[in-house]
Amino acid sequence: MGQAKNRGTLDERVAAAKAMIDALRPASITCNECKADVTDIHNMDTRGMPGIHAVFAGICSCGATTYAMQGEKDALEKFLVAMEASH
Ligand SMILES: [Zn+2]
Repeated sequence: MGQAKNRGTLDERVAAAKAMIDALRPASITCNECKADVTDIHNMDTRGMPGIHAVFAGICSCGATTYAMQGEKDALEKFLVAMEASH
């Protein structure tokens, strides 16, 4: 198969991306609602979001979801505006 030779490279890229996201992941996120330390943190899909390196959603026991983002400042601002516009 012609694509087999690329598989290692793709795996390496996926592993590198995961390692980068793990490195960016905060140990905890402070809940926007009750200010508790949230440690139930999920990685969000950032494909199609240029400049956004990682988005994390902290699911608090109070039921609120607080987002933490890593990326370029301009991209984060655009993302926040888009999030507000969608709500
Ligand atoms: Zn909370």
